[in-house]
Amino acid sequence: MPFKSPLPDIDIPKCNILSYVFAGDRSNRTEPLWIDAANPTNSLSLSQMHMLVKRLAAGFDKLHVPTNGAVMVFSPNHIFVPTVYLAAAGSNRAFTGANPIYTANEVAYQMKILDAALVLIHPSLLEVGLAAAKQAGIPKEKLFVFSNEETQGANGIKDWRAILASESEAKSWQWDPLEGKEAETQVACINFSSGTTGLPKGVCITHANLIANASQAISIKFVGDIQGRSESSPGKETWLAFLPLYHAYSQLWTINIASRLGYKVYVMSKFVFEDFLKCISQYRVDAIQAVPPVLVMLSKRPEVKNYDISSLKQILVGAAPTSSELQAEVSRRFNLKIGQGWGMTETTCAGIMVPFGEDDDGTGTIGLLMPNTEAKLVDDLGREVTAEGERGELCIRGPQMLKEYWRNEAATRESKEADGWFHSGDVAIWKKDGKGRQTWWIVDRKKELIKVKGLQVAPAELEAVLLECDDVADAAVVGIRFEEDGEEWPRAYVVLQDDAKRRNVGEKEIQNFVAGKVAKHKWLEGGVKFVDEVPKLASGKIMRKFMKDMAKKDAEE
Ligand code: ATP
Ligand code: MG
Repeated sequence: MPFKSPLPDIDIPKCNILSYVFAGDRSNRTEPLWIDAANPTNSLSLSQMHMLVKRLAAGFDKLHVPTNGAVMVFSPNHIFVPTVYLAAAGSNRAFTGANPIYTANEVAYQMKILDAALVLIHPSLLEVGLAAAKQAGIPKEKLFVFSNEETQGANGIKDWRAILASESEAKSWQWDPLEGKEAETQVACINFSSGTTGLPKGVCITHANLIANASQAISIKFVGDIQGRSESSPGKETWLAFLPLYHAYSQLWTINIASRLGYKVYVMSKFVFEDFLKCISQYRVDAIQAVPPVLVMLSKRPEVKNYDISSLKQILVGAAPTSSELQAEVSRRFNLKIGQGWGMTETTCAGIMVPFGEDDDGTGTIGLLMPNTEAKLVDDLGREVTAEGERGELCIRGPQMLKEYWRNEAATRESKEADGWFHSGDVAIWKKDGKGRQTWWIVDRKKELIKVKGLQVAPAELEAVLLECDDVADAAVVGIRFEEDGEEWPRAYVVLQDDAKRRNVGEKEIQNFVAGKVAKHKWLEGGVKFVDEVPKLASGKIMRKFMKDMAKKDAEE
């Protein structure tokens, strides 16, 4: 028997994402909503965005951008990214974003498999973008310069504003209402998974998926809201967006939910910790969507003392494991609530979440199944595991689950059963909370578990222990084998705090610290190596594949 969310099912509209974000009088609202954090006079209201979306969509028609064609953005965040996202999705094309740190090869791969119909490139990335387009065989007429500020174009390509149809043309442009089933089949965006375990996979997300996940997240956000707020009277909040908009996490909150709730979002183009603190203090930011390294910085970086961030009341953290001690420490120190969310590119964004304003009592739970969402746990033989505290692979089913992987039937077949169950690859457990509700924990990723003498060791657990050590600034744990078919041992790559470096803290001290806290099979018998940084993606994930290759090389030495 699958588990159902303890929260009541909600009604989820089935329509075009534009009908959802501009519902009611939203297209007439003139207060600034997306604001350039570096230059707050540069902003967009919902009404301005509504007009721009229509002008851009009508412009795509004039350029004969095909239906279902991919409109690609290769840019750091700025306030016009949401406009392109909504114009592409809303006009039955697919939005896709490429990671700005990608090399020409990586961008070309994405352009090529999507057969990108248009590519909008930020001026700072022109060299890479042009090289990628050349490699993927995309002609220059399909490329545009995409900046916050108006440009004259560059390198023979035009500014994206050249696509915009006139206001009068836009007035007669209507979006397809996509009622019922159509919303479930029409793809709105193709997001790429982070590539933690292999090559990033294109994930096809429909209009119904986007609306479902925004509705679910809004509903769970207001469960037991201490100010008595609800979707129909959401109050006002100010958010700071620094997570990349090419990724599902930021798209859901910064674009779809912010428009729906009318919350103000200051958009940072780049995450610089001190700027982040400055923005929170200057704009009196109420809440942020974050990833674990942000908590690490809040806990460890000395600059924090120089800023008043007391306006911050809520942090949502997800995308990668967070240590419950770290979460509890930051929450106590800054007197705010931190709740985790769990999701994947394949769950549109989120599947399980802690209601905002609730305390997780230091347990590090990822929260409750979202409304309209079911879960089951299965063991290695595919049998259902049902007991409290017993671990299994988390399988999930709900209206936010992807339609399919882009042109990868094998991957779709492998992870999605015919009746909708999706195998996440994450290992989870559940327990009852104080209110008798079923709450969830991610224990590790199936592919990352280290097998020590037949026992499973979760790298995430050891990383959390290491972060408790005052000498440790950051850490990653992977399995290392010193002989081809020998035992696997946990090996830590550790970044020391400056002060610990001065004191020459060594391998033994770190090993002893861990040995004092965990069972023997989890000790760092694979050794400790000191590094300058732990390689991470912008979303905060440790680059496991890279770390494993590094451990393999180290073992050979
Ligand atoms: P790829 O599938 O390409 O290897 P990826 O799975 O890391 O990369 P995403 O879809 O961005 O790409 O991330 C989803 C994964 O992030 C989940 O499967 C899970 O392992 C991890 N994750 C997300 N939220 C949490 C959380 N709160 N705690 C622990 N892990 C999380
Ligand atoms: Mg994945």
